[in-house]
Order: sequence, then structure tokens, then C-alpha cells
Amino acid sequence: MSETRDVVIIGSGCSGHTAALYTARANLKPLVIEGHEPGGQLSMTTLVENFPGFPEGILGPQLVENMRKQAERFGAEYRMAHLTSADLGKRPFLLHIGVHQVHAQTLIIASGASARWLGLPHEQQLIGHGVSSCATCDGFFFRGQDIAVVGGGDSALEEALFLTRFATSVTVIHRRDALRASKIMQERAFSNEKIRFAWNTQVVEVLGDDKVTGLKVRDTLTKEDRVLEVTGVFVAIGHVPNTTLVTGQVDLHANGYVRTGLGSFTNIEGLFAAGDVQDDVYRQAVTSAGSGCIAAIDAERWLETLGM
Ligand code: NAP
Repeated sequence: MSETRDVVIIGSGCSGHTAALYTARANLKPLVIEGHEPGGQLSMTTLVENFPGFPEGILGPQLVENMRKQAERFGAEYRMAHLTSADLGKRPFLLHIGVHQVHAQTLIIASGASARWLGLPHEQQLIGHGVSSCATCDGFFFRGQDIAVVGGGDSALEEALFLTRFATSVTVIHRRDALRASKIMQERAFSNEKIRFAWNTQVVEVLGDDKVTGLKVRDTLTKEDRVLEVTGVFVAIGHVPNTTLVTGQVDLHANGYVRTGLGSFTNIEGLFAAGDVQDDVYRQAVTSAGSGCIAAIDAERWLETLGM
């Protein structure tokens, strides 16, 4: 079976839903391929308090569900599937969902980025119950608690500094004895009384069944294990943009994020990128939604120039 579409959107997080809403309202009948993590990173958070328009906050999964319903109301079509291949060599682009073929005049990549996780037992099942990868999303829930941040880069220190607003103490667990983070972030962290450092330390187990009760950590030099008594752990060891489908076809930055020029334009005509797959700097729900809007407008205008 095969079909032809003016607009196909890969990914159903904030940017994908917003691109769907705008292209649907432009009568382009977008097809959204939901992907592996429907709803994106927001679907893994609890209360979102910094998305404008919700004075009392809104649950992340509810927010993305609302966005989806809003896009569907104007004719966006969602397909619970993931693309198995995308041939961007000529237009219309040829996409495969298994044996099903979709020919796309324009393609908006909104496949997001996924937090890099430690890959430890219990880690995934305790997300939202003490394990998080987003201090601005979940930090508030750790008021008065002793918590940890894993990582030694700018993200880890930024998370740690933010978390000191709520937590009693924040232990930064780093696998080496020197931070990767910029000097200014290091200075801020070193001078913050609430931040402690566990150097040359690796987390080997997240303890707890229903919620985090501690971390088993290992000294990388002595190989000795000990338990760090914390009720929360923020994993900040980087993000991985979800670009598997387009790697080798579209220009990427050295760190793997899709390179966009003006607005959402990529180096391939008719191919636009929005949200975290092309943004390793801001990574907020609202900036992601904004870039989905930009991609939709770019795609619409680009189709117009072709007389479609
Ligand atoms: P990053 O700079 O790549 O740092 C990742 C950190 O996680 C490193 O310290 C690394 O350890 C550690 N790590 C990686 N895999 C690990 C594992 N499996 N187990 C334990 N530790 C692991 O990533 P980032 O901090 O997310 O920053 C990404 C980019 O955004 C950087 O260019 C950064 O400067 C920028 N950024 C800037 C700001 C700011 O300026 N305010 C804030 C956030 C991010 P090693 O050091 O041993 O490799």
C-alpha cells in the first residue's frame, strides 16, 4: 500500500504536535508518525509549571494529550507507528512504515532527543518516583530532601545549582576527579554550600522498589561500594538526539543534532527540523512548541512557492 502526503511529521512531542496543529489549520492534512516515545519527554514528567497558560501547572502527559486533541480537531492524522526507513534522496521523500509506503512532499523531523540514562536495573521503572532527567520539571518535588545528580558537565552542574533551591543537599556524582563543565559553572557549584561532590564515583545500583531509597555507588579507584542515602537522583549525562533515520542523509552538527539554518530549514529542500532533535541549548517544552510552529510555517510557505 502507498499514499502521498503534503506534510509528514516524525514525532509526537511538543514540537510535532505544534507543527501538526499549524499545518492542519493550513489545510495540509498532516500525517504524524508518533514514534517510539509518543508524547516525547513531557510524557515522562509529572507537573509542568513553566508552560505559559496554566497558572496551576499541568501534568506533562495531559499537556501533550491536549496538544494532540487540538491538532486532531483541525484534521491532523496520527498514526501509532514508527518509520522503518526514510529515503531523502529525491522528492517526494519515500518513507516506509514496514511494507507501507508514504510519499511526502515535505517532512518535518520532530523526533526529539532522549535523555542518556545510566542503564542500571530499576532506573527506568523509578522514573517519576525519584529518578529524573529534568531538574526544572521535577526539582520542586524534592523540597527538603537529600538528592544526587550524576554527571560532570554543564548540564549536571546546572541541574545541581537549580536543585539547591529545593533540596537540603545535592551530591554531584562524577566518574572522574575533574569536571567537564565550564569554569564559571564549576565556581558557582564549588561556592554553593548545599552542593557536595562524590569524585571518582560511579552509580552501580538505584535502590528502592516503589521509590528511590538510596544509591549504591562505587569508588572507581578503590572499587569499594557504599550506599549514598538520597531520595532522588537526577541523571545528567547528556542527551542523544533521535536521528537514526536521517543520519548520513542530512547535515548534522558534530554532536549529532540536526543542523538548521534560517528557521527550521535543513540542507535538504523540503526537509524541516523542529524541537530537541535540532536544539541542544534551550530544550524547553515552550521553545520546542515554538520551533514546531516555525517548521509548520516554513513548510507551508515552501509548498506555496512550489505552487502546491
Ligand atoms: P556533556 O558536556 O557531554 O557532559 C556529560 C557528562 O556526563 C560528562 O561529565 C561525562 O563524564 C558524564 N557521563 C557521560 N556518560 C556517563 C556515564 N555513562 N556514566 C557516568 N557519567 C557519564 O553533556 P552536558 O552536560 O549535557 O552538556 C552538553 C552541551 O551543552 C555542552 O556543550 C555544554 O557546555 C552545553 N550546556 C551548557 C550549559 C550552560 O552553559 N549553562 C548548560 C547545559 C549544557 P566525563 O566528563 O568523564 O566524560
